Amino acid sequence: MRAPHESIVDGSKATPKDLPSIDRLLRGAAGQALVAEHGHTLVAGEARALLDALRERAVAGTLDAGEVRPASIDAALATRIGARLAPRLLRVLNLTGTVIHTNLGRALLADSALQHLLAMMAGPNNLEYDIASGGRGDRDSIVEELLTTLTGAQAATVVNNNAAAVLLTIAALARGREVIVSRGELVEIGGAFRMPDVMAAAGATLVEVGTTNRTHPRDYERAIGERTALLMKVHTSNYAVQGFTSAVDEATLAGIAHARGLPVATDLGSGALVDLTAYGLPHEPTPQQMLAAGCDVVTFSGDKLLGGPQAGLIVGTKDAIARIRKFPMKRALRMSKLPLAALEATLRLYLRPERLAQDLPTLRLLTRPAADIRALAEQLRDAVAAAVAPRFDIEVVELLGQIGSGSLPIDRLPSAGLALAPTAKKGAGRALDELAAALRALPLPVIGRIAEDRLLLDLRCLEDASPFKAQLAALRESLRS
Ligand SMILES: *Cc1c(COP(=O)(O)O)cnc(C)c1O
Repeated sequence: MRAPHESIVDGSKATPKDLPSIDRLLRGAAGQALVAEHGHTLVAGEARALLDALRERAVAGTLDAGEVRPASIDAALATRIGARLAPRLLRVLNLTGTVIHTNLGRALLADSALQHLLAMMAGPNNLEYDIASGGRGDRDSIVEELLTTLTGAQAATVVNNNAAAVLLTIAALARGREVIVSRGELVEIGGAFRMPDVMAAAGATLVEVGTTNRTHPRDYERAIGERTALLMKVHTSNYAVQGFTSAVDEATLAGIAHARGLPVATDLGSGALVDLTAYGLPHEPTPQQMLAAGCDVVTFSGDKLLGGPQAGLIVGTKDAIARIRKFPMKRALRMSKLPLAALEATLRLYLRPERLAQDLPTLRLLTRPAADIRALAEQLRDAVAAAVAPRFDIEVVELLGQIGSGSLPIDRLPSAGLALAPTAKKGAGRALDELAAALRALPLPVIGRIAEDRLLLDLRCLEDASPFKAQLAALRESLRS
């Protein structure tokens, strides 16, 4: 039999016989180095998979002789192992212009939240331990006082996310009974979170009242019966009904409910903890307002406008929160210590409202002046132009971004960025897709958006441009090849 490295003739095909055995591959110098670094299990597993794949192609007659050269097989094995060990969750650069991007991980954590998270995870902590008494503690108590201070609620509890908060609230307060919701508020949030389905999953019966565009107090009043357990409002966070519309506000609804001894729950979705108009942003209802209007329970997300980790926050009256807390489903939906540590540190930032727009990344990005973003675009223009020339022209443009995550769906954020357009009209669509793919394939994937035959890079969320600039040479390379 010929040794594998002797069988090489350019353009010729390899046969299964040209492949080394696993043993032989692992005994080579490169194989031994890989085993020394990663251990036998991973290297042998990948070697087997690599040889199987090569053998299949050899049998099919599609394996080039050059690919069975020892150096080629060693390199392929190292690449395979590298790919296997590479994380699937990657940092990316969000240049989409959408600040709270659900597909890109929603809110960014503040430095203090990251530090607290890391410090708390590095060793044991008092997650459910009362240090003062030396007895058992409650993980809710880590954030309850912060939440009641910030929202004015009597009590608070937290779960895994807001979908869980809504599910748990309905189940605890209305299982086996009826919940009245306006037809204008039967939202679908995405990811199969639809109000009617959540209601069913919670074991409650949905009673729809009013119409898509108009619901009146008497609609709720007429629907209330013996089996009614809860009146519910859902903030229509990802759409707006405009024109001839009418909805019953929380104060009126609370009046109707309380007169009959029933509670009112509001799902705010995003739920900003501060008045966003004070920062020049569109109005978003706050849990404080909902509670002041008489709502018994308000639920909202931790990783939307609040700017913290994934979490479902439930604030309300002592009685309602106590029922929610002791409902068995709570245990299954409870928050893990990781996000809880980040949530605590995030909420603490709200105790210093004057510093919030600096300390909380979500608010910092949302309030970043368009002029500053434009200045950054001007500054990056030439370097990016050089990387994409001659196939693409570049222009600094004004853009309209979004808050994102269903918050404030119709409002736009004046922003700025770079627009890249193919120089050749022919094949422009394909060129744009190729550019977008090249940007995504960078070590730190750059995610932009394609609109009106251009690739747009909105720079609102690019606070530190150096990692972006550092990749321009690689981008240039990949567009040339
Ligand atoms: C986003 C949203 C939810 C779901 O919150 P998650 O934290 O993503 O689980 C529920 N209701 C409304 C109105 C929302 O906007």
